[in-house]
Amino acid sequence: MRLKRLLALAAGLMLTTVTAWAQQGPPQAAQMQVALTMDDLPVHGPLPPGLTRAEVAHRVLAAFKGAGVAEVYGFVNAKGLADEGDDAAQVLALWRQAGYPLGNHVYAHDDLHGHDVNAFTAAVTADEAALTQYMGPGSGKNTDWHWLRFPYLHIGETPEKRREVAAFLKDHGYRVAEVTLSFNDYIYNAPYARCMAKDDQAAVARLRKSYLDRAAESLTIGRQQAQAVYGRDVPHVMLLHIGGFETVMLPELLSLMKAKGVAFVPLAKAEADPIYATNPDTPSNGTGSLLDREMTARNLPQPAHSADPSTWLDGLCR
Ligand SMILES: [Zn+2]
Repeated sequence: MRLKRLLALAAGLMLTTVTAWAQQGPPQAAQMQVALTMDDLPVHGPLPPGLTRAEVAHRVLAAFKGAGVAEVYGFVNAKGLADEGDDAAQVLALWRQAGYPLGNHVYAHDDLHGHDVNAFTAAVTADEAALTQYMGPGSGKNTDWHWLRFPYLHIGETPEKRREVAAFLKDHGYRVAEVTLSFNDYIYNAPYARCMAKDDQAAVARLRKSYLDRAAESLTIGRQQAQAVYGRDVPHVMLLHIGGFETVMLPELLSLMKAKGVAFVPLAKAEADPIYATNPDTPSNGTGSLLDREMTARNLPQPAHSADPSTWLDGLCR
């Protein structure tokens, strides 16, 4: 009797364990925190036939919402409003209706490298009219637009330049929206528009595969770089761009990230980590992600990565 009862107890325990496993899935690797950010609102890259800027925003926002992403900063080049009018204006309106915030990506996507600091800071200021229009009081939640994303991730070629810009940003209440994860998602937009115009679905399938492979690789590289520089994983910030191909790829990208243990977090939460208190005097040529720059500063070898697909992409669907 006693043995029988013990066996029944053991079977019950196993059943409970198996049921819990089935409900929760197998134990996961440690979660990777990632803040998603999207650059070049409202106008980025060529579009395939029939797609408008507003429709791109609508589909991109639906993908983020569908994946339960609570916050995605959209970084604005206000010149796009002057260039493309109401279609572009709808992008920013839709972004705000979704409850997502906007930040500064400099008026005309001005490049700090090769230009003087005064011209650059004037272009930062020129972006602010649009930000206050869409992010002012009464515009809903998430109204902190004082985040700057450097165009081309160029933070200044010299320590002097980096110090001057850092002083300007501090005076004007800005924080820098750093990037630790990027796979140059924007390079797929022009070939995607060309391949759709030719209705070359086989080529589009190859684009999709390359995009997802490189997205997955960027997560691995980000983790490896964080280990190499800081000896630990860190909360990450991923750079994406608001292009036509994202309307196709975002649902798959977000599922892939979730499957790899990513938890989506707000930008301010990720950047609360001390690694984001960067020093303008860190030896650097001012290019690449935060992790790229820190690797360079420490003379660390970059992790292995797949070949750059740019040449293949440039020749596709011509
Ligand atoms: Zn940009």
